[in-house]
Amino acid sequence: MALSGVEIFKLLPKTNCKKCGHPTCLAFAMKLAQRQATLESCPDVSEEAKRILGEASAPPVRPITFGTGSKAVKMGEETVLFRHEKKFVNPCLFSVEIKDTASESEIADMAAQVAGSEIDRVGQKLRIDGIALTNASNDAGKFEAAAKVVAAKAPDVPVILCTTDPRAAETAVKIFAGKRPIVYGANASNFEAMANIAKASRAILGVAANGLDELSGLTEKIKALGVEDMVIDSGARKAKDVVEHNTFIRRAAIKKNFKPLGYPVINFMQRDNSLHEAMIAVFGVTKYASIVVLSSIEKWKNLALFTLRQNIYTDPQVPMQVEQKIYPIGDAKADSPLFITSNFSLTYFIVSGEIENSKVPSRLAVLDCEGLSVLTGWAAGKFTASKIAQFITDSGIDKEISHKELIIPGYVAILSGSIEDKLPGWKITVGPREANAIPAFLKARAS
Ligand code: SF4
Repeated sequence: MALSGVEIFKLLPKTNCKKCGHPTCLAFAMKLAQRQATLESCPDVSEEAKRILGEASAPPVRPITFGTGSKAVKMGEETVLFRHEKKFVNPCLFSVEIKDTASESEIADMAAQVAGSEIDRVGQKLRIDGIALTNASNDAGKFEAAAKVVAAKAPDVPVILCTTDPRAAETAVKIFAGKRPIVYGANASNFEAMANIAKASRAILGVAANGLDELSGLTEKIKALGVEDMVIDSGARKAKDVVEHNTFIRRAAIKKNFKPLGYPVINFMQRDNSLHEAMIAVFGVTKYASIVVLSSIEKWKNLALFTLRQNIYTDPQVPMQVEQKIYPIGDAKADSPLFITSNFSLTYFIVSGEIENSKVPSRLAVLDCEGLSVLTGWAAGKFTASKIAQFITDSGIDKEISHKELIIPGYVAILSGSIEDKLPGWKITVGPREANAIPAFLKARAS
């Protein structure tokens, strides 16, 4: 269980030497308890205290990196039950199941689709993160052959090898040597053999059980065999069970520091009906799954789940924002219109998207409002006439364009006079209140 500030204080040297940058050992202890400082800052702490505090400060859900290279993904490391308490750390991953009973061309095609699934949304790259190759044939040879096709078609994509046959797992895992795959399928009857394979190949072990009691018993036994990195599956498949089991696992890990369930959770969806599957996946994403395995790859499903994941895993204390600068949209020329907006990501992407839709090359000046939208930024004194004028002057844009007209958002029409006062020689035009009116606004100006 996490230690309190006073409990931590008892383990510190209590000399108040200030070498850690804090005025007293107690102040440092309080920061440690809030996870706002790290123990390395105190050079005089004893080895015994390091051991005790190190164990107590480890995240209750074990951090694990799945895969290697540019597409490696982190799981676990969570410290809270609810996003508003702090933040969720590592987003739930999506994997798509490929069965080894599919033909070689079908396997190759699906693997290539996963490898090319990346989209850009509000400045973030979103994609299907992994492939779950299942040994549906129960044939080790077929599983190995399918693994080779996946490795060739999606060499950077992290892979989950799903089989309960240790022989099949041992052969297939060699194809992904050094790539940190997950070997999923350790259960009550094969866990020793599967643990040995995971240990020898430095893979993550996927533990499958029938219920929470069996699961916690299995992870303890597997840990005793020397395997530290596991993902856990309680066997939940229905929406009700996914919510109930995942919540129980997260609560046990975070509130009770119950180590046997302190691992990332994997949920398998696999419904015949894609809509039903997407709906169950929503429960996995919102309720603590670290990996959701889907049975198919479809753009509509990807988009819905990517958007949900992005919303859940955005740090609520840090607004999403883009860099302050002037962005050309299309082939902007000297006489192209110049708009201004705030640097809240969503605002930027909506406004720039609508300008793009208009097919009128333009420039979009994006003012740093600490990630607030236009109206909120104005109310907070961050989207003001002075700041707009300063930004436009400092940018030197007047040397690049042949006019001096700035189009401001309709919601802050009230600023037009004061901006004109602070930007002598400039004409301030009030643009539409809503971004979706920009194409019509630009069309009307051109006619
Ligand atoms: Fe106390 Fe260590 Fe900080 Fe010195 S460096 S004040 S001993 S916590």
